[in-house]
Amino acid sequence: MKAVAVKPGKPNSVHLIDLTKPAVTDVSGGRGVLIEVLRVGACGTDREINNAEYGTAPDGEDILVLGHENLGRVMEVGENVSEFEPGNYVVATVRRPCGSSVYDKIGAQDFTTDTEYFERGVSRLHGYMAEFYVEDAEFLVKIPNALAEVGVLLEPLSIIEKGLKQASDIQERMKIWRPKTAAVLGTGNVGLLTVMALRLRGYAVHGFGREPRGGYLNAELCEAIGATYDSTAEISVEQSTEKYGQYDLIFECTGFSPIIFDAMQGLNENGILILASVTGGDRKTDQVPSDKINQMFVLGNRAMVGTVNAGRDHFEMGVKDLVLCEAMHPGWLARMLTHEVDGLENFAAVFEILNDSAKYKAIKTYVEVKRSDFRNR
Ligand code: BGC
Repeated sequence: MKAVAVKPGKPNSVHLIDLTKPAVTDVSGGRGVLIEVLRVGACGTDREINNAEYGTAPDGEDILVLGHENLGRVMEVGENVSEFEPGNYVVATVRRPCGSSVYDKIGAQDFTTDTEYFERGVSRLHGYMAEFYVEDAEFLVKIPNALAEVGVLLEPLSIIEKGLKQASDIQERMKIWRPKTAAVLGTGNVGLLTVMALRLRGYAVHGFGREPRGGYLNAELCEAIGATYDSTAEISVEQSTEKYGQYDLIFECTGFSPIIFDAMQGLNENGILILASVTGGDRKTDQVPSDKINQMFVLGNRAMVGTVNAGRDHFEMGVKDLVLCEAMHPGWLARMLTHEVDGLENFAAVFEILNDSAKYKAIKTYVEVKRSDFRNR
């Protein structure tokens, strides 16, 4: 079968390979599920892996099959799988409990403290950019048929669900927390999904991106779901509080780390700032008003938390939000699917789009690995 792989550590090494088709018996205990891949999403993490800034091959191998954002269809199940049957649409989670930390042992591998972690398509495990994969039923989440068209958005949404769950868990430190306004920094696909998740929770949401508002689809999508959009080229997060007030919750997903200091100054008392960008570079920043920020955090009981990856519960929360979003804003999610690349053999087009985001203005780029009839529903 066809698959798309890189040589981690070698820039721009992405290439097509031929692999043996996996079998349901590759997973022990009769818990294997064979999945035909329908769509694989691509994101900044894939770009960084192909740029040799990130990513690790499995032990003893020199290539890594890419792909962690996924949607597939069940072809065959092992004899001890009762949760799925052939024809079901599924999305697989990304991180596996292969580490030695206590979190891996209790199935909370998204909180692993190991420095070597195991993520399909990213780190030490092959991913889903292939015609088929086999997985333990434990790591698969069922997607309702009516959601299949937008199911490839579930993995990025799971990251947000985990961030928001952490925020609400942390905010239990107060007996009462009634958040009303939120700022979302970054309006790429993760940012837009965050805007959506917060609108569904009733927040007044203010999205911030770099691009000017005029003619920008991402800004239009913010407004279509009842959020505002401002360009950080025109207004800082702190300045924006003059028109919107301070934010009870701020979700950072720009990939531009200096913005977090601006965000810290836009946070309301008792508010929480969630950081979700993986910034692999070595950018530094100065002119940070540290006394002011420190004082704000101390005197205002403000909090900040980092979040990475997601557990099964967060994927399940994401399915519910996708359903609710389709019910409340039909067609909004599908508008995010801006760039389709037809077939694994056209992998080069994916990286052309990822590497030139200014030219393509893509929100979600994905490979249509296998055309599916859900398109003709
Ligand atoms: C993926 C996460 C992963 C993170 C760090 C993100 O792009 O969506 O699942 O944990 O990268 O590797």
